[in-house]
Amino acid sequence: ALTIDNVEKSYGQAKVLKGINIAIDQGEFLILVGPSGCGKSTLMNSIAGLEEVTGGRILLGDEDVTHASPKDRDIAMVFQSYALYPNMTVRENIAFGLEIRKMPKKEREEEVQRVSTLLQIEHLLDRKPANLSGGQRQRVAMGRALARRPRLYLFDEPLSNLDAKLRVEMRTEIKKLHQRLGTTIVYVTHDQIEAMTLADRIAVMKDGELLQLDTPQEIYDNPVNQFVAGFMGSPA
Ligand code: ATP
Ligand code: MG
Repeated sequence: ALTIDNVEKSYGQAKVLKGINIAIDQGEFLILVGPSGCGKSTLMNSIAGLEEVTGGRILLGDEDVTHASPKDRDIAMVFQSYALYPNMTVRENIAFGLEIRKMPKKEREEEVQRVSTLLQIEHLLDRKPANLSGGQRQRVAMGRALARRPRLYLFDEPLSNLDAKLRVEMRTEIKKLHQRLGTTIVYVTHDQIEAMTLADRIAVMKDGELLQLDTPQEIYDNPVNQFVAGFMGSPA
């Protein structure tokens, strides 16, 4: 579904992505992990089209989208910054993507209801983003992404602002949702348990390079090096 072909990204002299190769299958749940600053968000932004790559190609299916605008990529994303439309209510934020795709009003309302129940934000539907907590905003951003049916979901630490209890609940919901819809997901997390429980495969990055790409079990049992072992908590 998604092919990341030798993708490079430099900021001036600094090489942040040093030739990343990942082929993600249709319906796969890929988790991206690695230490802070290793290039995870840069790779996500590149897939989304928010950053222009300085080398390599990005393909969605057979389509080369390396230079396509974010809009033309048909990707839904929830990022660390979770930008919401400030002048719209939560309800309007969630419904917006459905409206531009010309979904009829009644279906839109049903969809907003469905995701807001899922994310426990029904009581917030008439509020503006400025009047929400960080965790509530994050859930709304998640709701806005989940209300769509894109080719690909990109989640960059979507649960990082939530308290422990809600994190666990949301993790379970995301897993169910993925099983039900069979959508392709690329998901960044710092949470090892999240990685081990959600992933079909885990990609471990360090310093702009991909160290290992494998199933959670395989990475845990056979880490390619000491770094991966330490990072994934494998026995020494
Ligand atoms: P974290 O886990 O902290 O979110 P990350 O793996 O997502 O980290 P990135 O945000 O991709 O890391 O950043 C990778 C590197 O690129 C970092 O060293 C960062 O300082 C650098 N970087 C990111 N954006 C820019 C920019 N616009 N200009 C220059 N350097 C940048
Ligand atoms: Mg990041």
